[in-house]
Amino acid sequence: MGVNIGQLRDWLKSYDRDSITIGVVASHSSLQILHGARMEGFRTLGIAVGDNRRRFYSAFPGAEPDEWLMLDNYREMLGHAEWFRQRNVIIIPHGSLVEYLGTTNFRNLEVPTFGNRGILHWESSRERQRKWLEEGGCLMPKVIDDPHEIDGPVIVKYAGAKGGEGYFIARDYRDFKRNVNLDEDFTIQEYVLGCRYYMHFFFDPTATDGFQVQGRGSHAGKNLGRLELMSMDRRDESNVDEFYKLGSLRDLREMNLEPSFVVTGNMPVVIRESLLPRAFEMAEGTVAASYELEEGSRGMIGPFCLETIVSDRLEFRVFEISARIVAGSNPFIGGSPYSDINEEFMSTGRRIARSIRKALISDKLDQILS
Ligand code: AMP
Repeated sequence: MGVNIGQLRDWLKSYDRDSITIGVVASHSSLQILHGARMEGFRTLGIAVGDNRRRFYSAFPGAEPDEWLMLDNYREMLGHAEWFRQRNVIIIPHGSLVEYLGTTNFRNLEVPTFGNRGILHWESSRERQRKWLEEGGCLMPKVIDDPHEIDGPVIVKYAGAKGGEGYFIARDYRDFKRNVNLDEDFTIQEYVLGCRYYMHFFFDPTATDGFQVQGRGSHAGKNLGRLELMSMDRRDESNVDEFYKLGSLRDLREMNLEPSFVVTGNMPVVIRESLLPRAFEMAEGTVAASYELEEGSRGMIGPFCLETIVSDRLEFRVFEISARIVAGSNPFIGGSPYSDINEEFMSTGRRIARSIRKALISDKLDQILS
């Protein structure tokens, strides 16, 4: 299933290296991706459903695509594969693209795509994510298998929920029963008390300088590529982030109000500098483990985000990984306190385009696309 490296190389043979076009679905982090692609000198293509979407981009001429592909449904992208390839398009995936197409369709989209689509199999299930992250040396929140055993705050998460919709907090079995929707698959996790940091990393397997990730297992003794910290955010979640204004949890329950975790925006943050070495250790382990997930795994390529909570004992718990660009990198279109140290105005979107530019020059495109 999915596109194999041989197919990718065949497509790339017919690509005109001087007129590569960066294609992106117009949503999520597309302003950043389009802007970054333009800064690195690429032509750009926006893919959208509905004229309203297209019109909106005229408000941002600095990121407005050079060309549009207008569709009635995002799944029509699958039938446009040849059309994309004739225009030398490289698609940059983000959360909305994967959501609109579905994981299987996305894996089968016959167009060169930035990053390793194979890694999505590991990202798309909580159990597989856990195996991956724990093998990478990350500590995760405990899982409670039997709801009768809830004795302290837990968070109940639905599978496939986008942006935390429907999640709730329960203190005991009664709370759980009152709120749970048994028609949906759910996971019960220990509620970790602390501050959230969503850390945006970038892994470039073609770079031989900088912070080199050390391989493990079948890759022991090898340098796998360069790990960079691009930026960090915290999500704004409605309405849990503003709940405190209405009083205690008990007051809120009396008003029949339950906190919800729907993402509405993002805020820039930095973390205590003394926590950065541990952050790098976790990210390095995660990248190294990605190469050992299955026989012949191409590992993590490009941007990924470790979603963490830091306790008052200064310990990290990682509750999720996103193996692609996250919308939390959007506050940093003009650079971040971390990326500015290395090069100013380097957003994650631009870093993706830079990586494509460098790979074009060194003839390594097949190492960063799938
Ligand atoms: P997720 O869908 O896993 O990214 O979670 C959505 C939101 O729920 C996060 O941004 C956190 O605010 C919150 N959350 C998720 N897992 C936990 C946890 N184990 N403890 C506390 N809060 C959590």
